[in-house]
Amino acid sequence: MYDIIIIGAGPAGMTAAIYARRAAKTVLVLEAKSYGGQIINTPDIENYPAAAHISGFDFATKVYEQAKALGAEFKFEKAVEIRDGADFKTVVTVKGSYEGRAVIIATGSENRKLGVEDEDKLVGRGVSYCATCDGAFFRKKKVAVVGGGNTALEDALYLADLAETVYVIHRRDEFRGDESTAEQLRSRENVKLVLNSRVTKLIYDKKLTAVEVTDKDGNVSELEVNGLFVAVGRIPENRNFASVIKLDAAGYAVAAENCRTQTAGIFAAGDNRVKDVRQLVTATADGAVAATEAIKYLANK
Ligand code: NAP
Repeated sequence: MYDIIIIGAGPAGMTAAIYARRAAKTVLVLEAKSYGGQIINTPDIENYPAAAHISGFDFATKVYEQAKALGAEFKFEKAVEIRDGADFKTVVTVKGSYEGRAVIIATGSENRKLGVEDEDKLVGRGVSYCATCDGAFFRKKKVAVVGGGNTALEDALYLADLAETVYVIHRRDEFRGDESTAEQLRSRENVKLVLNSRVTKLIYDKKLTAVEVTDKDGNVSELEVNGLFVAVGRIPENRNFASVIKLDAAGYAVAAENCRTQTAGIFAAGDNRVKDVRQLVTATADGAVAATEAIKYLANK
């Protein structure tokens, strides 16, 4: 029996582990993939206080080592269900089940698919959701990035250093991402903005060779590309826990700033929670808040 089971070893979950261990609570962190969450795909974090430049991977590794050194236990197993009992909760994973007196769900989010035909089939054959993971395969080639948020803009900047040409395909003529990053993109000679346009078809033989693009007036054209980086946002990973927490229409966990969900002893922290600002700093803040609230809950039980 653990005091607190944390589902998700991203910045929110690992920060919660640090806070819970510093309060001498027993902690199990369950993670489906590898520690770090989506921040490991960020090449250079520039907006975290006191760290002017640090890669997402280095950041995540430091937090992981800090949590481990404080005594948090990590198991790399996907959690598939939470059962809410009268005295404790049971977290079921693909390998077994664990009992905890409180649970923090810090599962973050997964990539949203573009939704064009054969997208899944072409993953690893030209379609990618991670520029820093796969960008090197497209050195001196032509690639496109779809999306207009910070991820798309940062991916495009990263790829501009590697690829021959980077098309940025966005469905509107204004970017959702930061203007300072958009401005840097506009100054790159090998970056071409394809605005008010959507990718409507993937063209391939064995691998992707081109994308069909349709603009807002219905004009159809083709762009020859070897790589398509999809960066059209993310979907919260809460589906497995819908029986114990309330989700909003977009699937985010309904919990106030204190991270308490509708079920006593179950907390939601980080990008999977309803909130306005999803940043590294707000994820770590959520981790601290959720752990503190969980500690209070255990004290009052
Ligand atoms: P996002 O901000 O939600 O942007 C998603 C983009 O994809 C939007 O431009 C959206 O278009 C477009 N889009 C959505 N569905 C689409 C579809 N089916 N077809 C074509 N385009 C589609 O997602 P994100 O860029 O992944 O960022 C997520 C959060 O992380 C944001 O809060 C972001 O600021 C943050 N983030 C921060 C940093 C940083 O601070 N350095 C880095 C990365 C991410 P519309 O604009 O028309 O809706």
